[in-house]
Amino acid sequence: MTSPLAAELRHLLGDDAVLTEPDDLVRYQEGWRYGKGVALLAVRPSTPEQVAATLAACRAAGVAVVPQGANTGLVGASTPDASGRMAVLSLERLNKRLEIDPVNRTARVDGGVLLSALNAALAEHGLMFPIDLGADPTLGGMIATNTGGTRLLKYGDVRHNLLGIEVALADGTVLEAMNQLRKNNTGLDAKQLFVGTSGVLGVITGAVVQVVPVPGQRAAALVGCASGEAALALLRALERDLADVFTAFEAISAEAMGPVFKHHDQLRNPFGAAPPPAYSVLVELASTLPATALDLPALLEERLGAFLETESGEAITDVFMGKPEDFWAIRHHISEGLRAEGKVLAFDISVPRSRMAAFTAAARALLAAEFPFVRCCDFGHWGDGGTHLNLVWTEAGAPIPAAELVPVLQARIYDLAVKGFEGSYSAEHGVGPHNQRFYEAYTPAAVKAVSGAIKAHLDPDGLLGTTRLS
Ligand SMILES: Cc1cc2nc3c(=O)[nH]c(=O)nc-3n(C[C@H](O)[C@H](O)[C@H](O)COP(=O)(O)OP(=O)(O)OC[C@H]3O[C@@H](n4cnc5c(N)ncnc54)[C@H](O)[C@@H]3O)c2cc1C
Repeated sequence: MTSPLAAELRHLLGDDAVLTEPDDLVRYQEGWRYGKGVALLAVRPSTPEQVAATLAACRAAGVAVVPQGANTGLVGASTPDASGRMAVLSLERLNKRLEIDPVNRTARVDGGVLLSALNAALAEHGLMFPIDLGADPTLGGMIATNTGGTRLLKYGDVRHNLLGIEVALADGTVLEAMNQLRKNNTGLDAKQLFVGTSGVLGVITGAVVQVVPVPGQRAAALVGCASGEAALALLRALERDLADVFTAFEAISAEAMGPVFKHHDQLRNPFGAAPPPAYSVLVELASTLPATALDLPALLEERLGAFLETESGEAITDVFMGKPEDFWAIRHHISEGLRAEGKVLAFDISVPRSRMAAFTAAARALLAAEFPFVRCCDFGHWGDGGTHLNLVWTEAGAPIPAAELVPVLQARIYDLAVKGFEGSYSAEHGVGPHNQRFYEAYTPAAVKAVSGAIKAHLDPDGLLGTTRLS
């Protein structure tokens, strides 16, 4: 039976904008990694005004709404709960506006525009949006999760590249703040409320982002390090010498590297028959200068050579120069390789960069002492202080079932990161239902109180999103 809300939304938006059949709803109900629920309906507005009208209708009907972009989020925040009473507000049709100002170096986009579509349009002007990751999210979703990505070291996260925003609020009004200025100190910077807050304060319908010139050349190396401390010494040296062109510093532990080649024959293993070193670091440089003005591979090779001559250089086991795409292919096959090894529990942790080696060593020591059947297969954006500390084990080798083991491991590792190393339990993926209890455990009461007051003001009926930030 069609609900009164579905009928109202069809009246407002047109028949094909509203889906209610169970088969049609399947793809809106399950997240990439976590989050599986049941939707009352999925509604797909195609203009900001339609988004606002949808929210007003849902509010009048007392129906909760979860905004959904490309559904690539990794904390279960883009799908409905299990009640069958939530509406999914998909932004997939809100993707028409895509205006580029090459002189201002900005793009005005609809919230449902995909990152790939933005970059395709920007490429015609020699520009790109510098947030780079192994998925194709929407701009609205990227803002709501404050996506980091692999080149944060050079360009920052979404927050650093966002100039303006347009948001449909729970009461059906639109907050228009499509600022295109880099300098504008005129009071509250309202857009910041919607960055990284998982869509619980409003639905992002438009944004102005700053964009950057596409580097004409890149150079990369894979550098073997005998320890995490050696990787940090390399980071410090490269940043001192090459900061202007330094774009990525990704560390891959031996335990994460091994399964990549074991399960992907097509990838060339630079280590051959030898075991990978404790950490392999993917170093990438990029520059807009032509190769005639700056020989980037030669510069990288020369600086790495100079580092090898220093005392810290003694802990460097290998240096492979090569094509960036070949090294990134290795990096992007890690998760798949680990899944082929057994049960994977993924962590998205950050700590101050200076403490990264100590943190991963402490995590390994904790696991060896208390969970010796669990392998620590860590890798990640060490240049940003981020690590995907993935834990892997086999059901057969574990004394307790995964359902019991997972919460124990989460509690131990998160306590170590947050309380022991002043870190974060979610470096770049956000809060969401998956991290809800850790938000509650680790967020200062005063921050929760401010957040709750803003939520109460913007969404007094508590109808937006499945994450609680109060
Ligand atoms: C293979 C893979 C690699 C990844 N790598 C990285 C990485 O390196 N770094 C990183 O930071 N993330 C990474 N991610 C996570 C993910 O891509 C980001 O969180 C992404 O930016 C979410 O965008 P989305 O459009 O898919 O949003 P969704 O997944 O649809 O939604 C995510 C959250 O945003 C809200 N939301 C979505 N659209 C809107 C809107 N218009 N208005 C208000 N709220 C909205 C949702 O309600 C939900 O809370 C990766 C994901 C995958 C699958």
